[in-house]
Amino acid sequence: MSKILNTYNRKKISFSKGKGSFLYSTNGKKYLDFVQGIAVNCLGHANDYLIRSINKQSKKLWHVSNVFTIPEQERLAKRIAQKTFADYVTFQNSGAEATEAAIKFARRYFYSKGQPRKNRVLCINNSFHGRTIAAIFASNSKTAIEGFKPKVDGFDHFNFGDHKGLERAITSRTAAIMVETIMGEGGIKVIPDFCLKGLRKLCNKKKILLILDEVQCGIGRSGKFFAFEYAKIKPDIVPIAKGIGGGFPIGAVLVNKKVASGMKPGTHGSTFGGNPLAMSAGNAVMDIMFKKGFLNNVSKNGKYFISQLNKIKNKYPKVIKEVRGKGLLIGLCLHVNQVKFIQKLLDNNLLTVRAAENVVRLLPPLNVTKSEINLGLKIIEKVCKNFK
Ligand SMILES: *Cc1c(COP(=O)(O)O)cnc(C)c1O
Repeated sequence: MSKILNTYNRKKISFSKGKGSFLYSTNGKKYLDFVQGIAVNCLGHANDYLIRSINKQSKKLWHVSNVFTIPEQERLAKRIAQKTFADYVTFQNSGAEATEAAIKFARRYFYSKGQPRKNRVLCINNSFHGRTIAAIFASNSKTAIEGFKPKVDGFDHFNFGDHKGLERAITSRTAAIMVETIMGEGGIKVIPDFCLKGLRKLCNKKKILLILDEVQCGIGRSGKFFAFEYAKIKPDIVPIAKGIGGGFPIGAVLVNKKVASGMKPGTHGSTFGGNPLAMSAGNAVMDIMFKKGFLNNVSKNGKYFISQLNKIKNKYPKVIKEVRGKGLLIGLCLHVNQVKFIQKLLDNNLLTVRAAENVVRLLPPLNVTKSEINLGLKIIEKVCKNFK
């Protein structure tokens, strides 16, 4: 009997090692891993360059505390700022911590402007911003909040795609709109570029902040470093996590000058956030991701994968309803039962993970090869063909 608290429907399978796009189970089988720790291992398993970076740092210094200046952290923040809209970065340890910090910074901005009552954040119903007590009430999905009242106040909601509902929900107390640029857990729902542009305009007009949660869709997953870059807009606050550490737990929040003006020493902190060991992983990921052609390749492979999946969909329209996503953040919205479909893929040595709306997520590492994508396609087609 497991002594692990029963909070997951865990598969019985376990793994002893991984390499690149593949995982090896304890009972000797080889699997193509298109989960990658849920969009975390952006460079696949046991990446040689990441191993070397972490090994090197692990012999020098692991942890000191943010009461001291951490050169590795300064370096990563500078590199992120150089490549993005961000003027400042603060490091956390997970996505939920990053989204919570984002909420804090939005509130604190208006507080520092003498508008402390402007403190509410407007989010999409059934989104996913993490599992902390505030993040679940920001996300507002039934299963995530059930049994966890009293409700954390300070969040209002609108439905995905409901432009009128969004405008109606904005009040004089709204400080920010916080949405995932591409909804991950919610079913790989892409906010179209014209809507993102509209969101930016709306926030400017109402003088409120735009928070784009790129914890899942950021760090190259969409084919650009950030998914919002497609819409050519600049948000005010962006929480990130998952991919940035390549498997090492790192979260961060990126902010512009305006938002940074609300913060001062003592207003936020983290014991572990941005320690030297974590930063060696983050810097190594950046080294690879900003190599010439890396992101273009993600985009190219993503387009190929999605177009081939659409061919399979057209061949088996009673199994696959819709192919969703951008870059290598891909969802198969099914007509058939997702749990059964995922099991059949697993029986054929392909690992995938569910999302809401009967979606099966395909999250290969960002350095996946075309032949590995083809292997995945072959398995998906076989499962579609034989699905009963
Ligand atoms: C995974 C995720 C989170 C939460 O990240 P954790 O590291 O699990 O706390 C927040 N927002 C989005 C969009 C996510 O996909």
